[in-house]
Amino acid sequence: MQDHLSSKLVEAPPLDFFEAVKVAKNHGIPTIIDGAAQDFRIEELLQTGADLVLISAQKYLMAPTAGLVIGNKRLVEGVRAQEKGIGRGMKASKEAIVGLLACIEEREDLDLDAWREIQTAKVTDFVQRSGDIPGLSAYSEADPTGLPFSRAYLSVDAAVTALDASILAVALRSGSPSIWVIDSEISDGKLGFELVHATTSEIEAILKRLSDLIS
Ligand SMILES: *Cc1c(COP(=O)(O)O)cnc(C)c1O
Repeated sequence: MQDHLSSKLVEAPPLDFFEAVKVAKNHGIPTIIDGAAQDFRIEELLQTGADLVLISAQKYLMAPTAGLVIGNKRLVEGVRAQEKGIGRGMKASKEAIVGLLACIEEREDLDLDAWREIQTAKVTDFVQRSGDIPGLSAYSEADPTGLPFSRAYLSVDAAVTALDASILAVALRSGSPSIWVIDSEISDGKLGFELVHATTSEIEAILKRLSDLIS
């Protein structure tokens, strides 16, 4: 069982993609992986033997809203046949297609190791500085689905901060600029921060707001 091939969006036990694809193949059933945000792992997902991998253009690829269908040529052409009439409501615009192509080119040129280092440095710095705010303990957590970055989490000690995690989240969101946190563990007093697309000045703004709200 390969943990990094599981999805945090699925509450069932992690699915072994290699095994699932093999079972489907044995029954002559094509497999499609709903890869969505997994654009950094396209090759890895194709290596499971899946026939098609679907990727969202507008997630970490940062393209306009569109989708990529990657894999078995015959099946990709099957999806393409929709252009002949069915599903025009879902048609990606010309602008989206050109935008996506530009993002794919940019991704091909990306030095992933250097990118990872920048992401790690951002999260490490955020964890260190937010953890210095009284009542907050900070830590980082690797992406559970195997994306190449971590997120920062703050555990809020409401006895010290006077604001519990939910109130703090609302206050962050209601301010200007509006700051949205990952709230999946908010009932345990934890706020998550994904900093992948945050610039240095945006991170400064988050840290300042946190310290203003708490002091
Ligand atoms: C985001 C997401 C979707 C939806 O993708 P769209 O490109 O917005 O249609 C589907 N499945 C998963 C697992 C996702 O993360």
